[in-house]
Amino acid sequence: MSTASKVSRPAQERIDEILESLVEIRSRVQAAASSSSTPGSQTLVAVSKYKPSGDILVCHENGQLDFGENYVQELVDKAQELPQDIRWHFIGTLQSNKSKILASIPNLYAIETLTSAKAATALNKAMPAERTSLLNVFLQVNTSGEDSKSGVPPLTASSTSDAELVQLAHHVSTACPRLRLQGLMTIGSIDQSLSDSENKDFETLKVTRDALHKLLEADASVTEKSWGQEGRLLLSMGMSSDFEAALKADADVVRVGTGIFGSRHKKGEGN
Ligand SMILES: *Cc1c(COP(=O)(O)O)cnc(C)c1O
Repeated sequence: MSTASKVSRPAQERIDEILESLVEIRSRVQAAASSSSTPGSQTLVAVSKYKPSGDILVCHENGQLDFGENYVQELVDKAQELPQDIRWHFIGTLQSNKSKILASIPNLYAIETLTSAKAATALNKAMPAERTSLLNVFLQVNTSGEDSKSGVPPLTASSTSDAELVQLAHHVSTACPRLRLQGLMTIGSIDQSLSDSENKDFETLKVTRDALHKLLEADASVTEKSWGQEGRLLLSMGMSSDFEAALKADADVVRVGTGIFGSRHKKGEGN
């Protein structure tokens, strides 16, 4: 197995740039979360897609443990050469046929993009016997209803247990013992993130979470607390352009890429 020492560190100028951004984002997270009901418990996931392992190592040396990746092979390669105490969050499109390779990453902490019972079953089955901890999953909700976004439709206060999201949550909590339903995730519409008024996607995810919580509590077949964290379903929402608004709207997990690592080149554009 390779070790972190094989990862080449960036030039000093780049190290300074990353650390300056990381420190700034952290203090903005702290400030925005200070008015929440659970200040200090929010998780900043540093989204490192397309960025070299050396950039990740710099953040890790500064105490950053949660990182997000979108592409399975890129995540596998980075996980192999970076420290084992990193908590990897998979935030890309999840395909059932990639379950096995994802589940084989020992320090995969969470899959944030679960949208189907089929993928949940495949993941549960693919979990290696030697892994002792449960794999956290977030169900991805398409709060904006855009065709370009994946995710299960949101709930309203009057949704019932036959709604797709409730069925999926029920499946994970009752039929997937190696998975833990940790919460809900949304990407949201860019228009909402640019608007000055209340972000409808964040409100929709919150309403969905509250409705799901109620329905799961009433679900007699969900006997144990096989979902949530300390009895709460967490909300993963907010990216570089809107993480402060997300935290003010009760986000537990924010996913920030550009704000920490700078802009990305898209795949096939020479990076
Ligand atoms: C890329 C990505 C992010 C980070 O986006 P930034 O705007 O760079 O902060 C967050 N969440 C998901 C699902 C992503 O794909």
